[in-house]
Amino acid sequence: MKRVAILGATGSVGEATLQVIRRHTDRFRVGVLTANRRWEALDALALEWDPEFVVLGTEPPDSFAPRWSGEWRTGPGALEDAARTRGVDLVLNALVGFAGLGPTLAALGAGKRLALANKESLVAGGELVVRALREGGGELLPVDSEHSAVHQCLDGRPVSEVARITLTASGGPFRTWPAPRLAEVQPADALSHPTWSMGSKITIDSATLANKALEVIEAHILFGLPYERIDVVVHPTSIIHSVVEFHDGSSLAQLGRPSMEIPILWALGYPERLEDRRVEPGFDPLRDGPLEFEPVREDAFPLFRAGVAAGRAGGEFPVAFNAANEVAVESFLSGRIGFQELAEVVIHTLEQFSSRPVGSVEDARQVDARARNAARESAGGMGFGNADPRAEESENTE
Ligand code: NDP
Repeated sequence: MKRVAILGATGSVGEATLQVIRRHTDRFRVGVLTANRRWEALDALALEWDPEFVVLGTEPPDSFAPRWSGEWRTGPGALEDAARTRGVDLVLNALVGFAGLGPTLAALGAGKRLALANKESLVAGGELVVRALREGGGELLPVDSEHSAVHQCLDGRPVSEVARITLTASGGPFRTWPAPRLAEVQPADALSHPTWSMGSKITIDSATLANKALEVIEAHILFGLPYERIDVVVHPTSIIHSVVEFHDGSSLAQLGRPSMEIPILWALGYPERLEDRRVEPGFDPLRDGPLEFEPVREDAFPLFRAGVAAGRAGGEFPVAFNAANEVAVESFLSGRIGFQELAEVVIHTLEQFSSRPVGSVEDARQVDARARNAARESAGGMGFGNADPRAEESENTE
């Protein structure tokens, strides 16, 4: 029986993971659960799973009356403690944003097997994560579907045998829109993804293609391949998740219907493939074909190019890209900037950073904080007219 910690249990990936575990309670036991603000939802999960440890990112109101009577924790360090809980075999990090970095480092530092959905920790943590992995003796398994696909195609083969990897992108809801029409995009349009059902931050990132830039950086860190050997192609139906080309001219691809339960099953069971008859049906060439591909429209989606350039430049740039993008997404969702201003905020922020190395978590936190301030200032100066006054209250202040 494996004991699992689920960080971000109330989110889209967290819920999908619990859905998978409900079908495999003979193999997994949930030892730790965390959420940020959704106290009631977390309380319901704690009641269902009876974990040893439950963590909330923010203090609940005094009126909150938990039905689960075990230990609740909040405050600095609680998520990191959750990630290193003694006796937990596998930590699934499904937090969103920079908040995932501390727990990623804590889990790897404690020698845990880490199933990582939180791509932002790899983008902002880069070398720090690689170092924690090496020094802590833990193990890192990707949950992001494209990276899980690469991991499945490699299946233990050394990356020295790989010529190139190609990550696929759905292209998002505006794949075919002419560039000038993108100025009309409203948050509700961008929150409607054609193939995947996900949390709001990654859904906006998918609409701008910032998500694909984050994934290129993620692939570079995870697999150690240089940027010039990581390609992206648009594949609108999201059936092929990635292709790995080997030096002998063979290419392997991983295919499946777009469901996060498939990469989650791989990460939970690895190296075994768990039998699961209730996951999506497998690839059917007659039903799922034809498989079509297009180049990325880099001019229409400038955050893709800016993000990959930030990754290539290294140092402070990827940290600042991630932070500015998080602020830009919050600002767009609350109506303070328009869709096309998302890229402007990020690119303007990046101008204030350099390739100076980020050698410690403290450095990363400082660069992150500076970039957030710069991005907020930039977003505030846009003078965009649709600001929703209620948004300030609901904004994620992380
Ligand atoms: P969601 O927004 O749906 O869920 C995020 C989870 O993290 C929630 O449990 C939330 O708690 C918690 N959380 C948010 N902010 C904080 C914080 N500051 N401190 C502590 N906990 C916090 O996100 P997704 O599940 O969509 O995505 C999670 C990660 O997985 C992201 O990095 C995303 O890029 C990646 N990913 C997601 C995929 C998907 O299909 N959704 C696919 C591939 C990767 P609460 O509910 O209380 O707010």
